[in-house]
Amino acid sequence: MSQARALIIPVTPFQQNCTLLWSEASKQAVVVDPGGDLAKIERAIADCGVAVKKIWLTHGHVDHAAGAAELKERLGIPIEGPHRADLFLLQNLAESGRGFGIAGARNVTPDRWLDQGDEVSIDDLAFEVLHCPGHSPGSVVLFNAQQRFAMVGDVLFRGSVGRSDIPGGNHQTLIGSIKQKLLPLGDDVAFICGHGRASTFGQERTTNPFLQ
Ligand SMILES: [Zn+2]
Ligand SMILES: [Zn+2]
Repeated sequence: MSQARALIIPVTPFQQNCTLLWSEASKQAVVVDPGGDLAKIERAIADCGVAVKKIWLTHGHVDHAAGAAELKERLGIPIEGPHRADLFLLQNLAESGRGFGIAGARNVTPDRWLDQGDEVSIDDLAFEVLHCPGHSPGSVVLFNAQQRFAMVGDVLFRGSVGRSDIPGGNHQTLIGSIKQKLLPLGDDVAFICGHGRASTFGQERTTNPFLQ
């Protein structure tokens, strides 16, 4: 089994944690949530010397998904995720991008929708898909069981949780997703989230004020 490596690339005025994720052995990579600032993302790809094979989207918000269509075209690679319930967000990215000042925001249709129990992979790094609605209805979390590591998008943050006061959001649903699907994966699981610093499920289970 190969080691996973990750590089966080903050993009858009929201400083969203676009993440370049790759297999150390093969240098095959995936870009998770390319919200914008594609020149910055492409520079990171070149600096790391990796070959990007896929784009994964955790959910359909503009700071996560608005650059996906253009990056797909530039690199000639498919987009996987999020869950189909975020279609209405992905069809509104161009308009939303204009409102938030995200240059080049484009609507996008993924090549593959994801659902609970699906698997996505890059080289020999396999991630289980957990459908975690509440921040957006189609949010997914990607969990690598071998390396005890998850990409959680805006579902959970260090010391906080995703907003639910936006279209399609629901706070009770969000807390249910976290408590029923994420925390049972184990205290030792580390995660990268859509904004701010990384953490572990154990740290959030014991200290996050929204989960007490
Ligand atoms: Zn979001
Ligand atoms: Zn976000």
